[in-house]
Amino acid sequence: MTTPCPAHCGRQRHPRQYLCPTCWDALPTPAKRALGRRGPHAMTRLRELHRQIAAGVPLGQIAVTP
Ligand SMILES: [Zn+2]
Repeated sequence: MTTPCPAHCGRQRHPRQYLCPTCWDALPTPAKRALGRRGPHAMTRLRELHRQIAAGVPLGQIAVTP
């Protein structure tokens, strides 16, 4: 089962990943590292990611709570 990538790239993401592999690769390394961590701020980071995508922030400029 697949889901459309939330970055509107037309590709599919896997259920356990936030973005498709291509969009994930485009994120800055600190954002990838933070989003890959679990813990109390994981949902906050996911919301930050989605809010920035919705606002049209380029994937290479997205920043989330460290
Ligand atoms: Zn994508």
